[in-house]
Amino acid sequence: MNKNYDAIIIGAGIIGCCTAFEMAKKGWKTLNIDKLAAAGYGSTGYSCAIIRTHYSTLDGTALAYENFFHWQDWPGYLGVEDELGHAIFRQCGCVIMKTPANNGLKHMIGYMNALEIPWHELRPEDILKKMPFMDLNSYSPPKLPDDPAFGEPNGGSIEGGLHFPCAGYMSDPQLSTHNAQRAAEAHGAKFQFNAEIVAIRQDKGRVTGVTLADGTDIDAPVVINIAGPHSSKINEMAGVAETMALTTRALREEVAYIPGPQGFDIENEGMISSDSDVGSYSRPEVGNRILVGSENPECDPHEWVDPDNYSTDPTDQMRYQVMRLAQRMPTLGIPEHPTGIVSLYDVTPDWIPIYDKSDLDGFYMAIGSSGNQYKNAPVAGKMMLELIESCEKGQDHDKEPVTYILERLNRPLDLGFFSRNREINNESSFSVLG
Ligand SMILES: Cc1cc2nc3c(=O)[nH]c(=O)nc-3n(C[C@H](O)[C@H](O)[C@H](O)COP(=O)(O)OP(=O)(O)OC[C@H]3O[C@@H](n4cnc5c(N)ncnc54)[C@H](O)[C@@H]3O)c2cc1C
Repeated sequence: MNKNYDAIIIGAGIIGCCTAFEMAKKGWKTLNIDKLAAAGYGSTGYSCAIIRTHYSTLDGTALAYENFFHWQDWPGYLGVEDELGHAIFRQCGCVIMKTPANNGLKHMIGYMNALEIPWHELRPEDILKKMPFMDLNSYSPPKLPDDPAFGEPNGGSIEGGLHFPCAGYMSDPQLSTHNAQRAAEAHGAKFQFNAEIVAIRQDKGRVTGVTLADGTDIDAPVVINIAGPHSSKINEMAGVAETMALTTRALREEVAYIPGPQGFDIENEGMISSDSDVGSYSRPEVGNRILVGSENPECDPHEWVDPDNYSTDPTDQMRYQVMRLAQRMPTLGIPEHPTGIVSLYDVTPDWIPIYDKSDLDGFYMAIGSSGNQYKNAPVAGKMMLELIESCEKGQDHDKEPVTYILERLNRPLDLGFFSRNREINNESSFSVLG
């Protein structure tokens, strides 16, 4: 293999592959190295792949809307065929319940209007028209089933919601990552799988390359950490972990995969639902099934783990998420042992990602995706390209942050928003909602 690269990208998940694609289009000779056997076999492959526009900050919302257009025209964005076919964007729309926990979504409405993102107000009767299987009693705050008040309505009811038509999900996140790999390869990008990076080499304050577990050295003047839940381990190897204000940690998460509410064609008529009243989210899946995840309410303990040593066996977490959602969807069957997946988020203290340089010249990072950045991968790749090219030309991004222009929205985005040294963003939901 040619070992003369302009940049090594650690990881071949969706963000790693989209970054390779964007850099290769601009003439960079990139090499993605992944310890797993194929693209998207890390946390990306377990993603619910929900594409939505609502976030708790204006910049986060703008970034998500810009990305929406890339998924809506996924084959057009890629510009190449894939022998495995393209993953498909299913634009099913999304409903968010108005609750006291989200302050009736007032902030969000302001962001949607500012960015001209389509949305509709839903009265309770409109919600029931779209999803007649729902029980609109309020059950908040979300509780675990061993709480005596679990399943008891609190006397209030859901006062309405918002419908976002610009939302949906990708049919197969792993395939979409393979698609991005093929698109990158069409522009000369290289990929090496089954290769674990065990050291980041440096000389005189600048990164010089990586060392693999088999002892091979691969050199490049730019190395980018896009290692998902292993991001903190890679930062430690590079000696930059201690020089950042923010950390990243691996959080164990379970998602259930169960039959949808009885008597309803959820696969074709269903929508994504985000419900902070019961602390669960769901999205339709083929076979009239749904995926059910947690919105990380206070009652759910955070299980921080070593990404190389955690249990992949489902626990009560999976069943509890389903039981909470069953309060809203009473005809949902609750399997004794729901099937699903166990995977990891890579979480920052404010659940907003880090797209940044580091204190080691030539070493960059796209990390801390906090369970909500699959949807942002295409533009994350573009932002990383802009950031890296600006820094390599001498711009001091820490003092004079790079601005990226969201092409479709024609809107500037100050990349200092994603800084590793930012103050914790208190506008955040501090959950997977970002
Ligand atoms: C259960 C779950 C549900 C989610 N749902 C959604 C959703 O609905 N919508 C959304 O937008 N986001 C969602 N996310 C988040 C989203 O999936 C991630 O933000 C995104 O996939 C991260 O992509 P990545 O390329 O950064 O990382 P990853 O896909 O984790 O890729 C990192 C790669 O780095 C490799 N690697 C690590 N260390 C090394 C090493 N030392 N040497 C070589 N290779 C290494 C790994 O093998 C891995 O393949 C979800 C995440 C999970 C876990």
